[in-house]
Amino acid sequence: MNCSHCGREVTGRVIVRSLTLAKALPVVQMESTPERDWICCDACNTIICHDCCCYPTSGYCDTCIEKYKLHDHLAQIGLIPGREDHCL
Ligand SMILES: [Zn+2]
Ligand SMILES: [Zn+2]
Repeated sequence: MNCSHCGREVTGRVIVRSLTLAKALPVVQMESTPERDWICCDACNTIICHDCCCYPTSGYCDTCIEKYKLHDHLAQIGLIPGREDHCL
């Protein structure tokens, strides 16, 4: 797998576990391996390495944060730091 932005190979992976709570409620658990240095954007499914996105903790690539104006929303719910810490 490679970063769609800089093209370098990314490391780490996501383990998806399916559980059933109380024998009725299905739950999908996503866990990253510790060396994971990339995200798969929740909006456009682009693979992008942490070096190429400002807010890897948000789960969205910079393009989508810009496009859908997600920054304020994500900062509000605490997924990314506030605007004063913007890395651009
Ligand atoms: Zn990259
Ligand atoms: Zn995206």
